[in-house]
Amino acid sequence: MPKGETTDGFHLVIDALKLNDIDTIFGLPGIPITDLTRMAQAEGMRVISFRHEQHAGNAAAAAGFLTGKPGICLTVSAPGFLNGLTALANATTNCFPMILISGSSEREIVDLQQGDYEEMDQLAIAKPLCKAAYRVLHAADIGIGIARAIRAALSGRPGGVYLDLPAKLLAQTMDAAAGQASLIKVVDPAPRQIPAPDAVQRALALLRGARRPLILLGKGAAYAQADADIRALVERTGIPYLPMSMAKGLLPDNHPQSASAARSYVLAEADVVMLVGARLNWLLSHGKGKTWGAPNTKQFIQIDIAPTEIDSNVAIAAPVIGDIGSCVSALLAGIDANWSRPPAEWTAAVADRKDRNLSKMAATLALNPSPMNFHSALAAIREVVKSRPDAIVVNEGANTLDFARSIVDMYEPRKRLDVGTWGIMGIGMGFAVAAAVTTGKPVIAIEGDSAFGFSGMEVETICRYDLPVCVVVFNNNGVYRGTDVNPSGTADVAPTVFVKGARYDRMIEAFGGVGVHATTPAELRKGLEQALASGKPTLINAVIDETAGTESGRITMLNPQAAARKN
Ligand code: ADP
Repeated sequence: MPKGETTDGFHLVIDALKLNDIDTIFGLPGIPITDLTRMAQAEGMRVISFRHEQHAGNAAAAAGFLTGKPGICLTVSAPGFLNGLTALANATTNCFPMILISGSSEREIVDLQQGDYEEMDQLAIAKPLCKAAYRVLHAADIGIGIARAIRAALSGRPGGVYLDLPAKLLAQTMDAAAGQASLIKVVDPAPRQIPAPDAVQRALALLRGARRPLILLGKGAAYAQADADIRALVERTGIPYLPMSMAKGLLPDNHPQSASAARSYVLAEADVVMLVGARLNWLLSHGKGKTWGAPNTKQFIQIDIAPTEIDSNVAIAAPVIGDIGSCVSALLAGIDANWSRPPAEWTAAVADRKDRNLSKMAATLALNPSPMNFHSALAAIREVVKSRPDAIVVNEGANTLDFARSIVDMYEPRKRLDVGTWGIMGIGMGFAVAAAVTTGKPVIAIEGDSAFGFSGMEVETICRYDLPVCVVVFNNNGVYRGTDVNPSGTADVAPTVFVKGARYDRMIEAFGGVGVHATTPAELRKGLEQALASGKPTLINAVIDETAGTESGRITMLNPQAAARKN
């Protein structure tokens, strides 16, 4: 580098990201980061611009989950930052690595509260909502700031990190050679954590003595990218397994040991449950209560990278702390040819329950009611996904989520992205864009009409980047369903009701995408197959019976008023 040449904060941020093999930014330009987006693109990074920061943030989070590298979301100050914050908090809750980088106003003015343009103490606000938060004030510290953000996002339990870059920092200049020398290439950002040998032996002993063992795979197991070892663990032990929704496909859903179709039975009846990257949170009824059968009949083994997760809801008899890859391979080392598979009594009982439930489901899926309902529409999608197991499914909604999760089988790891730990709405288009951008694979976004509304404008983003995304909107005219009436006699419709007969397909046509209006499973299937074959941005408005669907889907118990109305 010639003597006397200078660089600035903008370029140092870009160089630091590139040095760490980060090649994509999801964001939304504006003051003070517009030039950062321009320069990043000029320097060869992929910059995907969204219409709202929340969706850029969700895209960064999904990219983090899919790639194991922190996804980057770039926003403007105060309002843009706040819009990105929901995604940052959601990423942290789900253990997805992402870094929210926001421009901010001048410290001197913000700290004296003198009323700057978009004034806000962003660092203080971000702190409780993420794993770590940093601010960089000097160009010479940008390399350190990015290195700390990457390490915090990826190491241990992954999560969201906030990086605050005041406008003045970006324009700061310094000697170019000194600037380059200040950058850090992070060595081993997610170090393996080897489990203690006695913890592994304790877990093996418990598993060996089990009469009715069960393996429960969570999205931590999917994130860990230890697919072959996880499959070997399941197959060599012969233990039935249950995937949480984003762990579907780690082993194909039609695997003979899958207990998905006997979920209630195995959760209630198992005597030893091995959790692999899954928390005993509300999604698993906190490990207790009716779902888990008779009290005091279960013992848990829990594999997790976070030691404080252990005993969070119930006592864990055998914690195995470490990264899933290392833990599973250590367990595998103790499972030799002499390992005795679970008693046939148990596996036969699971298989029997499963067969009965699968035949019931097949009978329901074979019906072809008019108008189409959730089952008949999803039966069509299920067949298409079967023929394109490499496609990524994004799924959100209430009934649309619950039914799709159990009806649409997944065949490969990390092909299903959904509402995750919070059961959040609004992840749809952000996740779909990230899935298409990071993998180049086709994406099928199965969306409730209400859920789609949160991020619907991003169909323009999908069209702008010509992404192979097919959005299927399950249109039943409202939240849960479209039949509620306003009892007061005023002209307003009920709060859960949308415009009847809305043509969501026309939204994408406005931006040059393909719109399909489907009223039968055959039309839906044809539209989806064409979308996958062409790779063209497509939106299928799938017209569903407006009386189909239950309030709050399968979590009616969290909505006591609706539960009472049902009784
Ligand atoms: P699910 O919702 O699918 O049940 P959760 O998000 O509740 O899954 O749980 C994921 C768990 O996986 C978290 O407790 C997290 O600490 C853990 N985890 C994430 N990545 C790893 C990893 N690489 N190794 C071990 N545990 C991990």
